[in-house]
Amino acid sequence: MIDCIVIGAGPAGMAASIFMARAGLSATMIGDPAKTGLIKAQEVGNFLGLDGISGKELLDKGAAQVKKYGAEHLLTEVVHAEPRDKGFVVKLGNAKELAAKTLIIATGLKPKTVGAVNEEKLIGRGIHTCVACDGPFYKNKKVLIIGNGNFAAEEAIELSALTKDIMIFSNGKEFSIAPELKKKLDAANVKYDLRRVVEFVGEKKLELVKFSDNSQEKPDGVFLALGSATALAFAQKLGLEMEGKAIKINREGETNVEGVYAAGGCTGGNYQISKSVGEGCNAGISVIKKLKGLTEYEDLT
Ligand SMILES: Cc1cc2nc3c(=O)[nH]c(=O)nc-3n(C[C@H](O)[C@H](O)[C@H](O)COP(=O)(O)OP(=O)(O)OC[C@H]3O[C@@H](n4cnc5c(N)ncnc54)[C@H](O)[C@@H]3O)c2cc1C
Repeated sequence: MIDCIVIGAGPAGMAASIFMARAGLSATMIGDPAKTGLIKAQEVGNFLGLDGISGKELLDKGAAQVKKYGAEHLLTEVVHAEPRDKGFVVKLGNAKELAAKTLIIATGLKPKTVGAVNEEKLIGRGIHTCVACDGPFYKNKKVLIIGNGNFAAEEAIELSALTKDIMIFSNGKEFSIAPELKKKLDAANVKYDLRRVVEFVGEKKLELVKFSDNSQEKPDGVFLALGSATALAFAQKLGLEMEGKAIKINREGETNVEGVYAAGGCTGGNYQISKSVGEGCNAGISVIKKLKGLTEYEDLT
C-alpha cells in the first residue's frame, strides 16, 4: 500500500504530488494532463513568475517536476474508488487496482452532462450519476448507461450484479473501452448502442428517452457516466460532503472522510491555476503531517 494516490493531473494534483514526493512519501498521480482544459490556454498572464507561459508548457513543466522529485505518474484514469483495509483502493481504466493510505481528489471541475432537454430537471428522478448510490433502486429493471469510456463500463459492470437488462449508449461517439472491461461487459451480456440522446421525457419522473434519429427507449432508469469519473462520482462513492457541485474541505484540504483530501477546481471557488496550486500544496502537506505524525511542516529547501 503506497502513501497517497492523487486522482487528477492538473495544477492541483501536480502541486500535491510534488510536495509529498519531496517529503519522501510514496505518491502516485493518476491522470492525463493533455485532457486538462488548461492545455488550450495560449497564454497565461496571471500565474506568478511565469507571465506569458502557455497552458501546455505549464503542464509539461509541472509533469516533469512531479517526475523529478520521484512521484509516480500514471497516464490513465480512475474509474472507481472505495475505502478498504484501513486505506483506499482505486480501480484504473485497465481494470487494475491500486491501494493507498490516503487519497487526494484533484479532478478539476468539469460538468459531465449530455446536454439533452430536461436532463437537469430529472436528475434524481430516474436520471442518476452514481451506481453505487442509486443502483439498488433498479434491481431487475431496464437501465441505460450513457457514456463511451471506461467509467461507463465500470458503472455497467457494478450494476450487472443487480440487473441483466443494461444498455450502454455512447451518445454518438465511438466506444473507447479497455479490453479487460469489455470482456466483463460481454460476460454480463451488456448491450451497446451508438445513438445520441436529445431529450429526456417526464414531468415528475423519467418516462422516455428520445434519440437524434427519432427513435426512443423506455428505461426504468438512466445513469450518466460520461468521460472520466468526476469529483461528484468520487464524492458519492466515498461519502464525501458536498457544497453544491463542489467537494467541501477545510483549510487543510481535508474532507469529512478521514484520509481523503481534495484540492483545486473540484472544491469550488475561484477557478484559477494559483488557487489550485495553493490547495494542492495544502492537501499534500496535510497528508505529510498525517502520515509522519507531525503537527507542523514546512518545505523551505
Ligand atoms: C482555455 C482555458 C484557459 C484558462 N486560462 C487560465 C489562465 O490564464 N489563468 C488561470 O489562472 N486559469 C486559467 N484557466 C483555468 C485553469 O485551467 C484551472 O483553474 C486549473 O487548471 C484548475 O486546476 P485543477 O488541477 O484543479 O483542475 P484541472 O486543471 O481541470 O485538472 C484536472 C485533472 O484531473 C484529470 N481527471 C479528471 N477526472 C479524472 C479521473 N477520473 N481519473 C484520472 N484523472 C482525472 C483531468 O484529466 C485533469 O488532468 C483556464 C482554463 C481554460 C479551459
